[in-house]
Amino acid sequence: MTQKLVILDRDGVINEDSDAYIKSADEWIPVPGSLEAISRLKKAGYTVVVASNQSGLARGLFDLSALQGIHDKMKLALAQRGTAIDGIYFCPHGPNDNCSCRKPKPGLLLQIAAEFKVKPVDMIFVGDSYTDIQAAQVAGSQAVLVKSGKGTKTLNRHGPFTNVPVYDDLSHFVREFLKKYHEK
Ligand SMILES: [Mg+2]
Ligand SMILES: [Zn+2]
Repeated sequence: MTQKLVILDRDGVINEDSDAYIKSADEWIPVPGSLEAISRLKKAGYTVVVASNQSGLARGLFDLSALQGIHDKMKLALAQRGTAIDGIYFCPHGPNDNCSCRKPKPGLLLQIAAEFKVKPVDMIFVGDSYTDIQAAQVAGSQAVLVKSGKGTKTLNRHGPFTNVPVYDDLSHFVREFLKKYHEK
């Protein structure tokens, strides 16, 4: 893997997931070690971008200003660790909207590839859902599954996967990834 751009799903990867959706900044709780992992990726020279489905918008569970508040909390938590992500991309649509950005469709990933001028094959997408894996594979990017969030359920229900490395969580992935490609 020589990818320089790492895309992260949000819910279940950076923050704890909830079947009731993350509707407010108060409900946004980072997965242990995830913010430090992002910091390490950034220090190693990677561009780090978030790509998430936020159908709670289409479902009327929260509005754009609440989503902005959630993202502000995430950015502040990262800033307190001296780091920052390079972009946040989300699909605001519902499952019946037939958009091209809701994962498993690859729209968000292709948009990121275009905007950062990176080939999809040079991107890694870390997610906890089967739809994340599907989006990565359709885009032609490397899929990585973490067991946090819905990851264990995803693995039990849809796995084992071919060419999809599995890690306990984002922290575990970053530790192994940087060990393999950047450190001795
Ligand atoms: Mg997720
Ligand atoms: Zn969409």
